[in-house]
Amino acid sequence: MAGFALGVEQEEWCGQLRALAERRLRPLAEKGEPGRVNRPLLAELGELGLLERVFGSGALELCLLRESLAYGCTEAETALALQGLGGHPVLRAGTAAQRERWLPGVRAGRLVAAFALSEPGAGSDAAALALAAAPDGAGWRLEGAKCWISNAPEADFYTVFARTGEAPGAKGITAFLVPADRPGLTGEALDMLSPHPIGSLSFDGVPVGREDVLGGPGQGFRVAMETLNLFRPSVGAFAVGMARAALDATLAHTAGRTAFGGVLADLQAVAHRVAEMATRTEAARLLVYAAAGAYDSGSPDVPRRAAMAKLLATETAQYVVDHAVQLHGAVALRRGHLLEHLYREVRAPRIYEGASEVQRGIIAKELYRGVAAR
Ligand SMILES: Cc1cc2nc3c(=O)[nH]c(=O)nc-3n(C[C@H](O)[C@H](O)[C@H](O)COP(=O)(O)OP(=O)(O)OC[C@H]3O[C@@H](n4cnc5c(N)ncnc54)[C@H](O)[C@@H]3O)c2cc1C
Repeated sequence: MAGFALGVEQEEWCGQLRALAERRLRPLAEKGEPGRVNRPLLAELGELGLLERVFGSGALELCLLRESLAYGCTEAETALALQGLGGHPVLRAGTAAQRERWLPGVRAGRLVAAFALSEPGAGSDAAALALAAAPDGAGWRLEGAKCWISNAPEADFYTVFARTGEAPGAKGITAFLVPADRPGLTGEALDMLSPHPIGSLSFDGVPVGREDVLGGPGQGFRVAMETLNLFRPSVGAFAVGMARAALDATLAHTAGRTAFGGVLADLQAVAHRVAEMATRTEAARLLVYAAAGAYDSGSPDVPRRAAMAKLLATETAQYVVDHAVQLHGAVALRRGHLLEHLYREVRAPRIYEGASEVQRGIIAKELYRGVAAR
């Protein structure tokens, strides 16, 4: 990326991804069952080499991938992102044996990954998690619950964050790679507004050993935060992809829908609303690319930029999708309409991977840290 524009090759790649999403992935997504893992869709993402890019690329490439897939097929976008979220701790903190056992299957879309941090009693305050890892011989036994875990209970393995208690708070957490077939691990699907699969997990004395640890004992919170730092701007990219899809649908609709002796776009109130939607979407897009670029260049202001990008993009997408529905009228609310689908999709990203209020907290903390340093 030079200055504020994507290069020709990047633009071409995004165009190809949008076409793939539309022609190859959307038909598979439509055959899937709502709220269930769509294995044929994942296998196609593997076949197309797109899952490989999640693990081999930088933050900007991940953002372009997520934005472009989201434009044409949110189910494919989310399936891809979840493989990344569940697989990245293994890539970054796993042993050679763990990586060899699990990552080829994740990259091929054969094995389903999940990232299990949140609990019924610990969401935004993840460092307060309570899932207990009690010492048992050379290993531990996991006891407790996880909640709102995407891909649960159908995933093939979970990156699980549990309290081993080396120190209070964040320093007493360890990450484990837990295969789904471990004795004592059960789960239930949750019926949510968001269309993708989500469930809860129950751990009833699940045995884990030293060979299951990701990173080291007491380093689990760092493993979780490293993963979330990479993925935060890309949640913004997902939102930008949805906003762009809603905006384009609105342009087409308002340019063609006749009313009051003209088309809707002739009404100044409509045209100005569309202008506002486009301007906000463009601002969000640039902020996302800037945050991803900062991550890729190892800039020290990544936490502030990533939080700003996620905050602005997810709030903007909500604004744009809501107004897109408004400017379409009743047709947008019919089951199966693109905007009915986006209206359900767009809500959750303002809550997960750090709610908007949490992002504002991070931005303010970083700003005042700057004041204190001066
Ligand atoms: C669709 C979806 C998918 C998810 N997938 C996963 C997953 O794969 N893995 C996983 O581990 N988790 C997942 N989650 C859980 C998600 O990470 C949590 O919902 C999130 O961290 C918020 O936690 P909570 O829902 O318990 O809300 P709470 O922490 O109870 O917060 C509720 C509200 O309080 C306010 N608030 C909270 N903290 C602050 C603060 N510091 N300052 C100001 N206001 C604040 C915010 O408005 C927030 O929305 C998913 C959630 C959803 C909705």
